Amino acid sequence: MLDKARELDAGDPLGHYRERFALPEGVIYLDGNSLGALPKATPARMEQVIRSEWGEGLIRSWNTADWIGAARRVGGKIAPLIGAQPHEVVAADSTSVNLFKLIAAALDMRREGHGGRKVILSEPGNFPTDLYMIQGLERQGLAKRRLVDRCNLEEALDSEVALLLLTHVHYKSGAMHDMAALTKAAHDAGALVLWDLSHSCGALPVDLNAAKADFAVGCGYKYLNGGPGSPAYAFVAERHHAALHQPLTGWFGHAAPFAFSDDYVAAPGIDRLLCGTSPILGLAALEVGVELLAEIGIEPLHAKSRALSEFFLVCLGEWGLDLELVSPLDSAQRGSQLSFRHENAYAICQALIARGVIGDFRDPDILRLGFAPAYLRFEDMAEAARHLSEVLHMGEWNRPEFSQRAAVT
Ligand SMILES: *Cc1c(COP(=O)(O)O)cnc(C)c1O
Repeated sequence: MLDKARELDAGDPLGHYRERFALPEGVIYLDGNSLGALPKATPARMEQVIRSEWGEGLIRSWNTADWIGAARRVGGKIAPLIGAQPHEVVAADSTSVNLFKLIAAALDMRREGHGGRKVILSEPGNFPTDLYMIQGLERQGLAKRRLVDRCNLEEALDSEVALLLLTHVHYKSGAMHDMAALTKAAHDAGALVLWDLSHSCGALPVDLNAAKADFAVGCGYKYLNGGPGSPAYAFVAERHHAALHQPLTGWFGHAAPFAFSDDYVAAPGIDRLLCGTSPILGLAALEVGVELLAEIGIEPLHAKSRALSEFFLVCLGEWGLDLELVSPLDSAQRGSQLSFRHENAYAICQALIARGVIGDFRDPDILRLGFAPAYLRFEDMAEAARHLSEVLHMGEWNRPEFSQRAAVT
């Protein structure tokens, strides 16, 4: 399989992009869906922002280096990756905080004239923070959480539902929702829709406006390679800008922050989603990652992502491995990952990491392997499959040190 892999690498139009990333020797990185790799251009850009813009420019850089426009500028560069217009996306805060702002804004829009709808519909097993943020608003008396299995969501869209909140590509299984169909079903029921794109953006095409989505959020540090704790992004369809009221009414979301008036007046447009001072260093790193992915292009990234995961499954077959795949078998129906169920998933994952193959474990029994298409090779697929086969066939995972749990799994 290694020969076949090298042949595929030689013919891979994206192959040369691997050199644009700083990847450690001897590591096969199958966790770019959790923390993306470091673009080689990022340290130099950070150095420039820190030494020149901050060190020399000091406070003048809010104007001279356009720090004040950074949240909108970076959002505008993410927009084409998700089928949005540049003025519909802003880069700010964390995904969790953006979820809070947009769930609350949706509830506000459905309070009057809609019979005071309070239900936020989602699915059990959605990413925890998405479910927890609903509970925070429930505690405030503003929301009611309703969780329904993914196959029954459409029937659960009744006249009480204010918002359908879903993660487009499921973080654990990799299964993808039909964004256009579910958005339409929600609208037909009088509800709004908020999509979490954390595991979609940067790996596969998303077309928010074609689906007529209302809101979206997503992470900057996964496929966008913005670095640990990078700012997230939020999308609001243009048609909702004027009526959008989010509760974190900080001064950066004010129409005229530097008028220092006593009363809040929301900025016209997407800026009203901002709260406090923009994290300029984080935005600078995120901008490098976003520009690189935009340069490669989403369609080629998606094609490579599908080819990588399909080839990985072929390699597993060659090694005689018949693992329980919980991701959809059809690569058109899943994100850029493969998840396998195994009772010893944690120890297997640790044994792989000891061999330099970094994937991750998701409680209680899922081995999750992510295939970031911008920098992985087909050779990595063949080698990772060989390592996995050796770990399993030799019972290597059974060593006691591989069962000790660290704080972050
Ligand atoms: C990774 C992830 C998050 C993370 O949110 P943070 O606020 O950045 O910690 C949220 N939602 C989904 C679906 C994710 O996969």
